[in-house]
Amino acid sequence: MTNLLQGKVALVTGASSGIGAAAALALAAEGAHVAVVARRSERLQELVQHIYEQGGKALPVVADVADEGQVSAMIQHVRSTLGRIDILVNNAGVMLLGQIDGANTEDWRRMIAINVMGLMYTTHAVLPTMKEQHGGHIVNISSVAGRIARAGSGVYNVTKWGVVAFSEALRQEVYKDNIRITVIEPGAVATELVDNITDEEAKQRQQEWLQGLTPLESEDIAAAIVYAVTQPARVSINEILIRPSQQDR
Ligand code: NDP
Repeated sequence: MTNLLQGKVALVTGASSGIGAAAALALAAEGAHVAVVARRSERLQELVQHIYEQGGKALPVVADVADEGQVSAMIQHVRSTLGRIDILVNNAGVMLLGQIDGANTEDWRRMIAINVMGLMYTTHAVLPTMKEQHGGHIVNISSVAGRIARAGSGVYNVTKWGVVAFSEALRQEVYKDNIRITVIEPGAVATELVDNITDEEAKQRQQEWLQGLTPLESEDIAAAIVYAVTQPARVSINEILIRPSQQDR
């Protein structure tokens, strides 16, 4: 522990696996009290235990970020239990790849509900707290897919592009309140993300593509998050694009 975030409260969505779990561990290792949010309660309990074993502090909160009522209750609960919210990591997301023609449009609704609406609801719910505190930091997880569109990824591109646009508009609106905004755009990271693709052909294509490179680890993205949120007050890291060394696009 280096305790750069001692006394701070962080909230990480999508913390039950992958990047979110690694980010929660890394923020806790810097001394933050971390509220970990996702739908899978057991996974959150295991993570919280792991964080306590490492000498950190964490609070599990089960919530579906696609449900505005649950998001609002989650923010109130964290605020009343931990007293404040200094850092929000909007990480919860799904990547339901597939061609546009013939797509199951339920996949589109899920991606937009979680990746876009979930991130926006959570941001909207946390801003009054950060404004009252005269400061805060919101880290939004977009993707290389938020900068480069490709066939078979159209609607995921829409959601991650949306995160980039929302983040820049938000930055312009809240910088005077000492709220910093960072967008992180990872390339391929070894997580459960691909397992949830419902289109079998798209899933197979993605798995084959991944076999051609050494993906990033969740800890690599967690390190970028910690870097962004531990800078001096004068420094606002707005965007970090981070690819595996062998990723082509
Ligand atoms: P994982 O599938 O491992 O993690 C996704 C997390 O999101 C899980 O904790 C899941 O928890 C949570 N989640 C999904 N839906 C909801 C919901 N409705 N409410 C609350 N939590 C939810 O994938 P990653 O760690 O890879 O993904 C994290 C983020 O990183 C995503 O936004 C993804 O788009 C982005 N990203 C990932 C890349 C990669 O290659 N892995 C590359 C670029 C960006 P639960 O199911 O328990 O609710």
